[in-house]
Amino acid sequence: MHRTAVLTILLSILTLAIPAAGLTDTSVADTLDDIEYLRLAPEEAGLTAQQALAREGWQPLAGQTPNFGYQDDIFWYHLSLPAGESPLILLIRYPHLDDIRFWPLSNGQPGEIVRTGDRLPYDQRPLDHPNFLFPVERDADADNGILLRIQTQGAHHVPMELWEPQALYARLSKEDQLHSLYYGTLMTIILFSLMVFAGLREKIYLYYLATTASFLLLLASLRGVTYPVLWPDSPTLQNYSILIALPLAAISIVLFSRKFLGLNRIGGWIQHSVQAATVLNLFALLGVAIFDYNLSIWLSVSIALPTCLLLALIGPILWVRGHPQAGIYTLAWGALTIGSLITSANFYGLLPNSFITTYGVQLGSTFQALVLTAALAHRIYRERESRTRSREAELAALSAQRRAEQRSLDQAMREPLTHLPNRTCFEMNASEALNLKPGKRWAVCVLRLNNLAAITKTLGHRNSDRLMELVALRLHRIARDLPGIQVIGPRDEDCLAVLEPATFAYLLDAGAANSNPRRVAQGMEQLREPIDYLGMQLPLDSCIGVALYPTHGQDLNTLVRQAYVAQESAIAIEKGLAYYDPARDPYSPERLTLVTELRNALENNELALWYQPKQCLRRKEIVGVEALIRWPGRQPPVHADQLIALAEQSGLIRPLTRWVMERALEAREVLLEAGLDLTVSINISPNNLRERDFPLFVQRLMASHQQHQGRLILEVTETSMMQDPDNSMRTLRSLDYAGIPLAIDDFGSGYSSLSYIKQLPACEVKIDRSLITDLLTHTDDRIIVKTTIDMCHNLGYRVVAEGVEDGETAALLLEMDCDMIQGYVLARPQPLADLIEQLRSEDVPSMRSGQC
Ligand code: C2E
Ligand code: CA
Ligand code: CA
Repeated sequence: MHRTAVLTILLSILTLAIPAAGLTDTSVADTLDDIEYLRLAPEEAGLTAQQALAREGWQPLAGQTPNFGYQDDIFWYHLSLPAGESPLILLIRYPHLDDIRFWPLSNGQPGEIVRTGDRLPYDQRPLDHPNFLFPVERDADADNGILLRIQTQGAHHVPMELWEPQALYARLSKEDQLHSLYYGTLMTIILFSLMVFAGLREKIYLYYLATTASFLLLLASLRGVTYPVLWPDSPTLQNYSILIALPLAAISIVLFSRKFLGLNRIGGWIQHSVQAATVLNLFALLGVAIFDYNLSIWLSVSIALPTCLLLALIGPILWVRGHPQAGIYTLAWGALTIGSLITSANFYGLLPNSFITTYGVQLGSTFQALVLTAALAHRIYRERESRTRSREAELAALSAQRRAEQRSLDQAMREPLTHLPNRTCFEMNASEALNLKPGKRWAVCVLRLNNLAAITKTLGHRNSDRLMELVALRLHRIARDLPGIQVIGPRDEDCLAVLEPATFAYLLDAGAANSNPRRVAQGMEQLREPIDYLGMQLPLDSCIGVALYPTHGQDLNTLVRQAYVAQESAIAIEKGLAYYDPARDPYSPERLTLVTELRNALENNELALWYQPKQCLRRKEIVGVEALIRWPGRQPPVHADQLIALAEQSGLIRPLTRWVMERALEAREVLLEAGLDLTVSINISPNNLRERDFPLFVQRLMASHQQHQGRLILEVTETSMMQDPDNSMRTLRSLDYAGIPLAIDDFGSGYSSLSYIKQLPACEVKIDRSLITDLLTHTDDRIIVKTTIDMCHNLGYRVVAEGVEDGETAALLLEMDCDMIQGYVLARPQPLADLIEQLRSEDVPSMRSGQC
């Protein structure tokens, strides 16, 4: 835009310069040296040509161009024509004369009058031209001359030239070309501004348009061109057009300058004087409607001139002050000022006629218009650039903001210590993977470092943090190489997430992992390698739990929970890896409803105790029964171990055991009534041993059932006591002190220390079924059982073999000196009434003492 504008200026100047070269040397047909004039007051308007010629007072004109300023007097001019017979044309190069009367003179006698002027319709002109042209015939034999009578309201300025027609037409055509070029240039600028304004909607282009348009109107009116072109029938409009064009041009130039130079922001006297100029020019414009022509002209000019002077001054002043736009403004305005001054000087005869002096205003205004157009074009360019820059800055700010958001999002998605993706990130990405490829089989794996807490306690938090980082690095390396590993974070290398401290998770494509079990095994192997830290070889005690999609769960939340459960399972602890098993899930939702059901069953007395007899081997007598919990009618059935595990997990074990004890005592009452004085064994959970008031409860219960004292045996498993040896021992001692017989249940199923067993205040040891089942076939079992029996006897315990299913085993046990047996060989657990029935029918005599 900028460059094109500069080019346009250069081109225009060139095109102006070409015809200019042809204009400077045009020749006037002849000089008019001896002009005489007669000046008369307006009252003598009625004078005829003859009377005027006859009047006294004619005097020679100094110079060639009458110039009498503003007045109403009537001027008569007498011109002598050179001898010859070719026709000539008188040209009055000033189109604003109101009333011109023309007579050709032949030997001093006026011929036919020609009347014209800009107060008369245009078509009355003898020749069609904005200036006044009068053709003159010459008589070769006569003395030829011209008589003119001119009266005008404006400036009485009558520049006369005498031309040979052909030379004149050639000259006028050249001038017209020049002017057309000038008008064309201004019109182009007007259209350009209009388009720019339409596009940008910025007032400055509108003001510039108005400036150029009013200037065009002013100069065209001054030259009289508007008259034939715009309103040939209305001399009034023609006269008004000059009156209006001047203040209009002044106002629009002031408005434009204000905007262009940002004068409003500058303040001070400049701003005030410019404001005053606007108001005054507006006043002059309104004055056109109020005052008469002369006054209006005088007013407009006397306001417009100082306005122009002011604007011409402001430019250099601001330029000196360093205003960035002022230089170009000064140049533009200076060109117009100089052009106008030159033309004015020529107008008043101070400068000779030449192309530059004649067209000074046009040249100046063209130059001004072009410079300002270029400046405005440059301004558009600059504004676009600054808009681009601000848009760029905006974009940069936006992308910085995006980056910051991304960073904080990234931070929100990472665990701060290891910088691995966190739980949120894992859940988001892994569930997306599941949703995107629902046809695939997925393995959600949760890995937990069990010994981290111990390490933290040993080495302190700082070391444990550092160790965590090392571990995370190692785990990440292992996970990355697993077959079927999935990306679960924003970065490609994100394949391991941290769910909680020391708990990690990853997602595998189960199909891919299955097809390469060796690699998975390798990974597991690497996992076990100890970590070298501070010169120590720290082992990683890790458990992995795996939940499979879609086998175990449909959504990630469930799968993660299941992998957690699997990771906590005994199998995982033992083998390092376990798959989720719904049957072993103590936290499954079904469990929750089961707990509620169990609580209700307990409260509504829906649970039952079944009884299994215990026989003294030597005497073949039933000596006692064991009470075993049942949930009759529950569908699907819940096994005793399951029910007890559930009660233990839910805290229901406390009321349950107490309920069992009370029912067991009632049962013993019934047995006694049936003539069966048997011991009743009940099972106690390790949780019960932790209840502070448990011994007290038992003591109170027994105190209120004195008849059963010493006949209710509490069975406690060996492994359960090992969970909390000190507390268990204390409780058992206080029970023993209260005279409650105790039995060690499931003996041989765990790894209890003999020294501990030795201290237990028990009277009976029940050898676990696992050792009895294969007694006939397994020699090892036989050795163990025999050793156990002997050892227990040495320690003073009676021995019960559990799970005896056949007579041979019973016989073998008798041989081994076992005291009692319990098992299907005698009876299955059954309701008390059934048991009593069975015992009666078999007529099994029970020992009164219940002792073996
Ligand atoms: P336990 O105390 O070892 O009970 C003996 C279990 O062996 C019973 O299983 C019984 O039915 C079963 N059994 C007895 N003889 C044989 C046999 O010859 N062959 C086979 N295969 N099994 C035999 P049950 O009733 O399912 O009880 C399982 C476990 O649940 C019990 O093991 C006990 O630890 C616990 N339990 C049962 N009732 C209670 C209770 O009221 N309170 C507590 N805390 N635990 C109970
Ligand atoms: Ca038992
Ligand atoms: Ca047992």
